Amino acid sequence: MKEEKRFREMIKKMKAYRYALSLIGWDSNTEAPRNAFKRRSTMTAYLSKELFLMQTAKDYQEVVNILYEKYEDLDDLLQREIKKAKRDLDKVINIPENEYVEYTKLINDTQIVWEDAKANNDFASFKENLEKIVEYNKKFALYYDKLANPYDTLLEDYEEGMATKEYDFFFDSLKKELVPFVKEILKKTNDKYEELNKTSFPKRGQKEFSEYLLEVFSFNKKSGLIKESVHPFTWNTSPEDVRFTTKYMENYIFSSIYSTIHELGHATYEQQISTSYDDTLLNGGTSMGIHESQSRFYENNIGRSLAFWETHFDKFKEIFPEQVKGYNPIDMYKACNRVQTSLIRIEADELTYSMHIMIRYDIERMLFSNEIEVKDLPKVWNDKMEEYLGVRPTNDTEGVLQDVHWSVGMFGYFPTYALGSAYSAQIYYAMKKELNIDNLIRENKIKVINEWLKDKLHKYGSSKTPKELMEMITKEKFNPKYYIKYLKEKYSNIYN
Ligand SMILES: [Zn+2]
Repeated sequence: MKEEKRFREMIKKMKAYRYALSLIGWDSNTEAPRNAFKRRSTMTAYLSKELFLMQTAKDYQEVVNILYEKYEDLDDLLQREIKKAKRDLDKVINIPENEYVEYTKLINDTQIVWEDAKANNDFASFKENLEKIVEYNKKFALYYDKLANPYDTLLEDYEEGMATKEYDFFFDSLKKELVPFVKEILKKTNDKYEELNKTSFPKRGQKEFSEYLLEVFSFNKKSGLIKESVHPFTWNTSPEDVRFTTKYMENYIFSSIYSTIHELGHATYEQQISTSYDDTLLNGGTSMGIHESQSRFYENNIGRSLAFWETHFDKFKEIFPEQVKGYNPIDMYKACNRVQTSLIRIEADELTYSMHIMIRYDIERMLFSNEIEVKDLPKVWNDKMEEYLGVRPTNDTEGVLQDVHWSVGMFGYFPTYALGSAYSAQIYYAMKKELNIDNLIRENKIKVINEWLKDKLHKYGSSKTPKELMEMITKEKFNPKYYIKYLKEKYSNIYN
């Protein structure tokens, strides 16, 4: 079909621009010197504009629309690709150009406003920008679908098939089952392992252990590498070029260990996707939630298991003999799973983490249905913290101002973090039926786990929806009961 050929050529060209922009992005987040900033902005602005013009060009629209009309005649993969292309297109072209430009500028300007507000505990100085960002997001969502709840449209952007109906059910289950459980566990927290978090672990040793972890998890170094950055992240242009970063904190050893393993989960997913999708829109992980399920699986289900510490404590002790004198694998297991009340989401442990997400979901949902206004946010935030975690922030820096997401217009993103953890628990129980996970960890055969995930999930890239994948892997629909069961089993055990 000649439209298909045209479509493919256009996609390839856009991909070349994205490749260049993406490499510049990697460079600026890892190695570029400070003064490279100015020149880089000029160059990337030019490339981004060209890319935007291609993505919205009349001939591209025409090709997508022709293929969309012939939807029934296309093969499965092309159907999925065209559906994605059509949605992406409709999301942009319905926005009046001046509004799009104003919004982009607003987001740019807001970065410094948010940073200052956070630094100075000054929500009032951020309020006006945030109000505008929320209004634009409502408006844009309505341009795309004037009949749908704007928040549903935004949620769908980050996780296909998930809207307030599905998330309400998910978070209501957590509220009912987990909130009381978390409060029980929090009463039992002791400070026995606090010490480990105050001990100094020299960066050189941490780096050595991270390198060792790459071997343990069978990371393919011919198709990837690791560096450092302030906020760890995974980056990729194809399964053959997947890079990630970690962060070394001398006085917080678990930060680098679990950042490395978390990103290894994202990176392994990307490395194991079939290269046959490289020139299509079906490359890369299928959704935020599924991606996060893989990083959490590696981090929590493997990395924070007793089997993991039983197997790798010797190596750790070899690097840090003084620091872990008197400790054994069980101590390490309990220390890395220590539960405590934290005001800050990114410092939260595995058990309390989803409470932080619930707060954000409640707020976003109320904000987009006009139940609350931006000016109410600090109070609502603090009330919710008290309700779910029993603590009240004393300032907005440690409260509503802590995350960057809203300042860049990302509404609907947060819920995918909790969803990822819940997906990973359901996948964990499905895997357990076929593999002896603990034994594989003990025998240093994580490679077998990688293979299982490749075969059931990774290789498909974005060619399947999150729903389809979950049903294929676990033989049932997504169900939060597995996540609740997993957390209750694990933490009842640790805290008797
Ligand atoms: Zn992640």
